[in-house]
Amino acid sequence: MGLCLFILGRDRGLHIHLPVPQARPTLPTIVLIVLDTVRADRTSMCGATRPTTPRLNALAQRPDTVATCQAIAPGAWTVPTHAAFFTGLMPWEHRADFASDAELVGWLHVRPLPSGVKTLAEQLSARGYQSVLISANPTLGLPLGLDRGFALKRFAPRRGGDHDWLIENLGTALRERAVYKAAGLFLVVNIFDAHNPRPATDPSLGWVPRWGPIQYGDPTSLRYLQGVLPQAQAQVWREHMVDSYDYSLTLADDALGRSLELLQARGWLGPDTRLIVTADHGELLGEFGAYGHGSWVSEATQRVPFVSMGLPECSPASGWLSLGTVFSLLRDGVCTPQPGPAIAAARPNADVVEISAGRHGRQAMFGLWSDTHMLHASDDIETDWVAETMETTPDPDPQPALHKALQAVRAAYQIPPPPIQAAGQAAEEVERGLRALGYVE
Ligand SMILES: [Zn+2]
Repeated sequence: MGLCLFILGRDRGLHIHLPVPQARPTLPTIVLIVLDTVRADRTSMCGATRPTTPRLNALAQRPDTVATCQAIAPGAWTVPTHAAFFTGLMPWEHRADFASDAELVGWLHVRPLPSGVKTLAEQLSARGYQSVLISANPTLGLPLGLDRGFALKRFAPRRGGDHDWLIENLGTALRERAVYKAAGLFLVVNIFDAHNPRPATDPSLGWVPRWGPIQYGDPTSLRYLQGVLPQAQAQVWREHMVDSYDYSLTLADDALGRSLELLQARGWLGPDTRLIVTADHGELLGEFGAYGHGSWVSEATQRVPFVSMGLPECSPASGWLSLGTVFSLLRDGVCTPQPGPAIAAARPNADVVEISAGRHGRQAMFGLWSDTHMLHASDDIETDWVAETMETTPDPDPQPALHKALQAVRAAYQIPPPPIQAAGQAAEEVERGLRALGYVE
């Protein structure tokens, strides 16, 4: 079908035939908004006393949305979790993660997404969707395969420092795509404000003191990671980290609100829209003598907020929503069956091993979240590879089956201390362990 214009004037009677995409009224709009580095417990949506995320709260409380604070990110940093969002494969399946034997890509030794895997954007584009990726996180623009299938993609030129970049580029992209409104839109937005580097805080908010910015490679942070910061200074540093992080959540929340307003104003939010707002991982703010993310699996790094609209409520038996289901929710509007506990895994980051002189990040990490227990292994320098157990409900069983399961997986997932050479082999080890436990088909 085309659009015919009838031109009046000297060339009276001339018809110009303009091709426009055919209307596809059956394609729902699909939107994924990733709040990069947003851990659940610091959001006011999930119980924080500071008003860090009023826009996220408002979205979660709408009658047409489903929300949970018990979502578990499958990977510990941007690449493995986005790869899971975009493929439906878990980190130990897609293997896009830190690997000391992998080539340097940008600033990371990381294994890319296997070329044979069709991404969500590729699959939806084949169905007639316009796939758009607007990422304030430049990592998604590295040649790792995560941007495969997006017809329009924009990546922030650097990490942090330009809060308005995202809204300006999202607005432009939606304007450029407006002509295709009759076709389906698949839009992924990555909001990067909660990730470091973090700007100076704004005490005019009334609940945060004035602190300076935190840069990458901040010497005090490095000394904290090395474990050489005197106790009094370490305490001040932790307060600085928490306050800066909470302040950065208000910026991420503002970007979320403005993104939703833009989508609403341009007519992309409606009864046929599938929307997910969640995070790719959280952030350590001094716990375990560490900070940041990517080399640990813990409550702080894996439990994230989750809000959906136009999608069914997933009710896993464990009570914990594995974000491995994001792929099927977006593509098909259905939850992935999830019989076992939610699982998360992290691989060693060679940079963290080096910076901390082997104190952190030298072991693969693994965690299970079940209906009765959260079990995760944390890297403890003193006692080496300790499983931390936190009971969510009283359990009379002194040796719960899940604890045994974690011990078995830990045994399968052991890799030698640095130099780390067998990254691929370790991934196969954990897959074998998971298969033995029935968590992987
Ligand atoms: Zn991330």
